[in-house]
Amino acid sequence: MNCFYHEAQVAVGTCKSCGKGLCRECAVDLTKGLACRGRCEADTQALIQLIDRNIALAATTSRTIQQGRRLRFGAGGFHLVFGLLFVAFGVRNYERIGSLFIIMGSVFIAYGIYWLVVVSRQGKNKQP
Ligand SMILES: [Zn+2]
Ligand SMILES: [Zn+2]
Repeated sequence: MNCFYHEAQVAVGTCKSCGKGLCRECAVDLTKGLACRGRCEADTQALIQLIDRNIALAATTSRTIQQGRRLRFGAGGFHLVFGLLFVAFGVRNYERIGSLFIIMGSVFIAYGIYWLVVVSRQGKNKQP
């Protein structure tokens, strides 16, 4: 490939912004990419900043997902404990309040177990 601006010169790389071939004279090294001298420097600088920001954002997002998983794990345990309390309360006061608390407790327990199973399976998949 030859330089887009000097057809006789061999290109040393391509502009990160417009993709044209650049010779040593036309290329500006912006450490993370080359740009056309005097044409694409500002655009390429903005592009590099955008990529850097996306990488930082991706790291933050994956951290948030991990925190969310821990939170859901807590929610599963929370529902399990509350379900057991509800069932115990319902059994103790069965004559007065009937099976309502037992049913509600069972739903809570089922929800808690469901979350614990789903979340722990996700955790296992992450570490092969
Ligand atoms: Zn050139
Ligand atoms: Zn360019």
